[in-house]
Amino acid sequence: MKKTKVLFVSSEVDPFAKSGGLADVAASLPKALNGLGQDVRVVMPKYKNIPKKYVEEMEYLGYVYVDISWRHQFCGIMKYEKDGVVYYFLDNEYYFGRDGYYGYDDEAERFAFFSMALLSMLPVIDFKPDIIHCNDWQTGTVSLLLKANYKNNEFYKDIKTVFTIHNLKYQGVYPKEVLGGVLGLSWEYFTPDGVEFFDNINYLKAGLVYSDIITTVSKTYAEEIKTDFFGEKLNNVLNKRSQDLYGILNGIDMESNDPAKDNKIFANFTADNLDGKMTNKQMLQKSLGLPERIDIPVIGIISRLVDQKGFDIINYVMDDIMNLDIQLVLLGAGDYSYEQAFKHYQEKYPGKISVNLKYDAVLSQRIYAGSDMFLMPSLFEPCGLSQMFSLRYGTIPIVRETGGLKDTISQYNDITHEGNGFTFTRYNAHDMLYAIKEAVHFYYHRSTWNWLMKKGMAVDFSWEKSAKEYMEVYKKAIAKK
Ligand code: ADP
Repeated sequence: MKKTKVLFVSSEVDPFAKSGGLADVAASLPKALNGLGQDVRVVMPKYKNIPKKYVEEMEYLGYVYVDISWRHQFCGIMKYEKDGVVYYFLDNEYYFGRDGYYGYDDEAERFAFFSMALLSMLPVIDFKPDIIHCNDWQTGTVSLLLKANYKNNEFYKDIKTVFTIHNLKYQGVYPKEVLGGVLGLSWEYFTPDGVEFFDNINYLKAGLVYSDIITTVSKTYAEEIKTDFFGEKLNNVLNKRSQDLYGILNGIDMESNDPAKDNKIFANFTADNLDGKMTNKQMLQKSLGLPERIDIPVIGIISRLVDQKGFDIINYVMDDIMNLDIQLVLLGAGDYSYEQAFKHYQEKYPGKISVNLKYDAVLSQRIYAGSDMFLMPSLFEPCGLSQMFSLRYGTIPIVRETGGLKDTISQYNDITHEGNGFTFTRYNAHDMLYAIKEAVHFYYHRSTWNWLMKKGMAVDFSWEKSAKEYMEVYKKAIAKK
């Protein structure tokens, strides 16, 4: 069978650069697809913060020049291979030689540069993909640039595009002058059917309009985003393209998130022998300065501290939560107001809550492993990976039924024994509190809880099934005229 050649484009890829779930997906989906015999290669910016050990092993392949805005920019092309996947890193000091990944004033130009450069590099690296698979707003203009600049070019003309929405909320909306001034395109694209968006231009919309196929990361979110509430003002565009819109649930990397092998956690364990889980709990409490009480439930939260993740309803009933005989461990960074609120709770409830306002890949694994429950009351959730990591480590999720949370977690039913977590439907603080109390109640039914842990750990969230669905989608894109 002929291999499908795919260039997978992402602004972050674990372990090189990660701010959220996109990096996990970009790390594991290409690997899974290659495991099924495809040729998927990944391209990302060469940020300054990529760990040195990878940079030192990169191979220099060549360069292109990109004309962007009034600048004539050099772009080095570096290559690195890991676990059967080829990664290309696009190197430009001016755009990517900075700390962090996002949040600069010239984002429109930085990611336009990335998009233009990755298109230009293809003949240089001698890779002609069947599909360019873009992800989120940073890569939204790739399909537009391909159509606008390359449609009559022999090398490029058969390349098809797939665009995956990992989060519709972040769109890359910029003044309309960016269209000509940065992307170098004419006003013909500035229409409601093109990239125009309330008199601005919208990078994500470009991806939705000009890509051959659109996917998002769960079936429920694929439906939700066609509605006003979840549609972030793009629901009309999505409705128009609903024939080409697919929901494919993310998987997780079961290998690097295996409690039996994970070397970041305090003790390894399996569903058949959960002793190590207790050790993780006790050591987590100890390392965070919490009283070592293995008799009470520890609730973990690992999240970006943003509205999307339900922090306003947590905030609303925080005193009620703290009045339960539980401990709460939070790991997250984000909005100033939530960071301040948690600092306040840390002072108000010493010994009951551990607040860790940072990004920490080791502590996160220790929390998944050492908690009893994981709280994720999202307002919306395209897929959500944390609930899957939790189950894998025998930690029972408490979630709101939305997007991918709805597709992966269902309410435990004590009579039928169906379900794998505790859920609530309305975005309401007291409904969440009720779900937490219910989880705490069942925590003390040790046989039920043990059964729930084992059941959660047995769920197969591996990428294989989803990777096969992506292959179907690629076929559909290739068949497009
Ligand atoms: P999102 O992509 O919306 O942030 P997901 O649940 O899909 O949410 O993915 C979040 C990923 O980022 C998970 O792998 C989670 O463990 C990780 N993560 C989030 N915040 C932190 C943090 N402060 N430290 C370490 N890992 C984090």
